[in-house]
Amino acid sequence: MAQGETNLLRLCSTLNDKSSAELQIKVNNYLIQETGSQLAFLAAVLSETEELLIQVLGDKVLEEEKRFTAKDHAVGIPLVKNTVVHLHELEESDKEEIRTLLDFMPETFVAVPINHANVEQVAIIAYIVNFVEEAEGSVFRFIATIRECFEHTLGIILNTLAYEEERRLRIQCQSLLTVARNLFTHLSDISDLLREIMMEARKLTQAERCSLFLLDEERDELVAEVFDGIPAEPGNENAPEVRIAKTQGIAGHVAMTGELLNIHDAYAHPLFYKGIDENTGFKTRNILCIPIKNEKQVIGVAQLCNKINGVHFTSFDEEIALAFSVYCAISIAHSLMLKKVQDAQSRSKLSNELMMYHMKVSNEDTKKLISNMLPVPGPEFADFKFSPRSLKESNTAQTVLYMLDDLGLVQRWRIKRETLARFILYVQRGYRDPPYHNWMHAFSVAHFAYLLLKNLHLMEKGHITELEGLVFIVACMCHDLDHRGTTNSFQLASDSVLAGLYSSEGSVMELTMRSQRHHFSQAMCILNTEGCNIFESLQQAEYKKCLDLLRHLILATDLAQHLRIFNEQKKLTEDGYDSSNEHHRGLLLSLLMTCCDLSDQTKTWSISKKIAELIYMEFFSQGDLEKAMGNRPSEMMDREKACIPFLQLQFLNDIVHPLFTFLAELFPEAECLVDALKINKRCWETAWELYSKRLRKESSSMAILEDEQLEIEVINYIQANEVV
Ligand code: AMP
Ligand code: ZN
Repeated sequence: MAQGETNLLRLCSTLNDKSSAELQIKVNNYLIQETGSQLAFLAAVLSETEELLIQVLGDKVLEEEKRFTAKDHAVGIPLVKNTVVHLHELEESDKEEIRTLLDFMPETFVAVPINHANVEQVAIIAYIVNFVEEAEGSVFRFIATIRECFEHTLGIILNTLAYEEERRLRIQCQSLLTVARNLFTHLSDISDLLREIMMEARKLTQAERCSLFLLDEERDELVAEVFDGIPAEPGNENAPEVRIAKTQGIAGHVAMTGELLNIHDAYAHPLFYKGIDENTGFKTRNILCIPIKNEKQVIGVAQLCNKINGVHFTSFDEEIALAFSVYCAISIAHSLMLKKVQDAQSRSKLSNELMMYHMKVSNEDTKKLISNMLPVPGPEFADFKFSPRSLKESNTAQTVLYMLDDLGLVQRWRIKRETLARFILYVQRGYRDPPYHNWMHAFSVAHFAYLLLKNLHLMEKGHITELEGLVFIVACMCHDLDHRGTTNSFQLASDSVLAGLYSSEGSVMELTMRSQRHHFSQAMCILNTEGCNIFESLQQAEYKKCLDLLRHLILATDLAQHLRIFNEQKKLTEDGYDSSNEHHRGLLLSLLMTCCDLSDQTKTWSISKKIAELIYMEFFSQGDLEKAMGNRPSEMMDREKACIPFLQLQFLNDIVHPLFTFLAELFPEAECLVDALKINKRCWETAWELYSKRLRKESSSMAILEDEQLEIEVINYIQANEVV
């Protein structure tokens, strides 16, 4: 066997389990030996980017690997031309580039492109430098030697390179994931987060220092809380923040252009400002400055200084820093948002405390309520016909106490009388004074809950639990707390604070429920006020259930919600009610809440008419506001368009009648309520018939409600005709 072949065999036998650098050293040494060259080296062709990668020259591993775009550098010519290239074929500028790479000007040089095994595509280029051409044509022998060498070694070199690239990417990916996890555990404190970002950035890129600037848009400045010269460690919180103009220096340039800057020699860069180094004694050698961008714009800049153990930051550092900056942007944005939310929550808590302070119920008031003894109401109080609105408002709190006592709930749930009394007084004060949605409405709704619990024996017969009974009546009292006399849609359209406050929870379905959520949140506020928690004796599991149900029942008073579950309730009446089924109980309780809320309609027509007057006063003033805002109110809210008897009949037919029919189907004792509704419908029809005869053009919408003579005529007519 020839000596050359023996050497090649020996080379091949030593190539296993080597890193790509070690492999290249072996191959280079072999080529040097076989061609008598001074130097041999390889450039791997990265097929995706058409870049050439040089890691080793001869037996020297480069401190930093070099990457060249093939068409921009002399080492790429064999790839571009797809042929062997000799020194004499190079132009002077190309030779100069080779000289810079090698640190000396070669006298002889040949570059040989080597194709992949099965494809006509260059995989690597092998270079030999300063060989001696002893005889004519010896260079062709060298080229043949090179080709032969790679016939046997190319596979292992390429596989090793690919494996190392894979591993590098995997490690990079893993470290980024770790970083992301670290960052996201620091969202609650922005300074903490920024410190963490700087530390991670330094670790990832092996930098001595890192400073982070955030863009202050209001002042067009970049702000760094922890700056280059000052160690980015906790405990230095008092370090002054540094502000620079948004356009100033390297950071400013990156902030303005949104492009990364990798500066190899800081002092030679025109944008570098030496002042800081002079003040701090720190010597900046090189800088990697990256933009931190959200999807729209630059929100900050990270500036890394002085590559540890390296001449400057590499293209890998650039790559990883850019990937890292994506996590920075997300975490900074979230942290700032979290801060805003927390601030808003604190403000809201503060204003709630303020409100509670002004609503304050004194101990005397509470004591007075407990000791005040009203005569026990007669049996008519528990009759469906009884109108709670006939009571004096000053006696209503006492009456609520009575109802809860009478139902056995105070004793059953070990509610302290003083706590209960204070709670009731707070709830009463939690109502404003619009014509309809005031405390008297809440009180009458709670009274109807009492009527249902008593007359349908809901708890005794196990239709609902005793805890549900308690929450039911409390939900009725609280269901319109702090009502402002305007509807959900008005608050949305007028962009009210309330609409904004609950918007974060706003699925499209829940958009309509903002007021209800506010009523619930007010109820929670009262419960959380000292000495007001009537549920305090409940065990934890019961307590949670109770608040969940309270929320559920208050939300159920939104008519839109009622209409959403209407079909389910219908099915319940058809299929039969199963009290052991929690979902059934939820549906029943929602139905009962709506019945209570609309229960005025089951009283006499005089009451129904009075209620219509109150409701339309509220509706029309909302309509007036809408007009003043340049919007067109709905017909029901428009005092110039609303036809009250017609709207009342529509309301009774579409909503109230079907609702109470369900109730009567579930509980025959409630049939009398449906009868009362039928009478009221007849009354409205009659009122309309009688009224339309004397209707004048200039009559206002409200006139029909104000006509006392008409009321007498209607009642007489109905009695005379006994129409039910
Ligand atoms: P609430 O606001 O919780 O009292 O829910 C009941 C809703 O039913 C009210 O906001 C009104 O929109 C509607 N409503 C109640 N009574 C009447 C009535 N007499 N005429 C028209 N709508 C009514
Ligand atoms: Zn209500």
